[in-house]
Amino acid sequence: MERVRLLDIFVHDVSLEEVLEQITKWCREKGAHQVVTADAYMVDLASSDPVFRQLMLDADLVTPDSSGVLLASRLAGTPIKNKASGCVIAENHCRISGREGLKIYFLGASEKANTGAAEKMQAAYPDMLFAGRHDGYFSPEESAGVAAAIKETGADIVLVALGIPKQEYWIKEFLPASGASVGIGIGGTFDVMSGNVKRAPVFFQKLYLEWLYRFLQAPKKSYKLGRLPGFFLKVLKNRNKKDNS
Ligand code: UDP
Repeated sequence: MERVRLLDIFVHDVSLEEVLEQITKWCREKGAHQVVTADAYMVDLASSDPVFRQLMLDADLVTPDSSGVLLASRLAGTPIKNKASGCVIAENHCRISGREGLKIYFLGASEKANTGAAEKMQAAYPDMLFAGRHDGYFSPEESAGVAAAIKETGADIVLVALGIPKQEYWIKEFLPASGASVGIGIGGTFDVMSGNVKRAPVFFQKLYLEWLYRFLQAPKKSYKLGRLPGFFLKVLKNRNKKDNS
């Protein structure tokens, strides 16, 4: 898969179709595979936190999740062509779950958002193979038990919505024990699926203004937006590093 360097990590320039195909293949092969859906905050975090950077370098697939990442790749002079956000990957796996025979587990978010998302997906895709669900507010000591409970269900894919970077660390540490073949970090997707939070309209997405729409919906999360100007400056300063090896 073609990948593009962005600061200290690599993002795969993959279309939604390629992502769905790759994840389905991994489910047939077994083993534990980590999928990171990278937004600008994550790429920035990886440039300042070596442990998180290594996690992103070790991930099996890093997809371009947001307009911020696409814009950064343009500023860097190595434009990424595709976008495959966690939200869209998650919903499409629910859509093809029955056809491909892949069981999906919903882990994370509030009880209300998690159950709401599960109900909405089951209603939209009645043949979806729903493995089970658990909200995202459990203690670190409970994590092994959660992974064991997932294993009981025989899930192939675990959609993990615990926020960045908690969900990425959870997948890294506990996906093998869950028995699932693929863990995908999906951020606020269950909030969107359940209808608790609206996705930015296409108009905002096209103008790279998803961040503004999100801010207007949840001003408390502005600490993430505050990092963006510094992030784009860093990207511009690193513009000449075009090593894609
Ligand atoms: N979340 C969770 N457990 C936690 C922290 C967050 O389940 O301990 C959920 C939260 O309810 C939300 C999702 O993780 O549904 C994504 O969190 P956030 O909105 O902070 O998004 P991010 O920008 O990190 O993806």
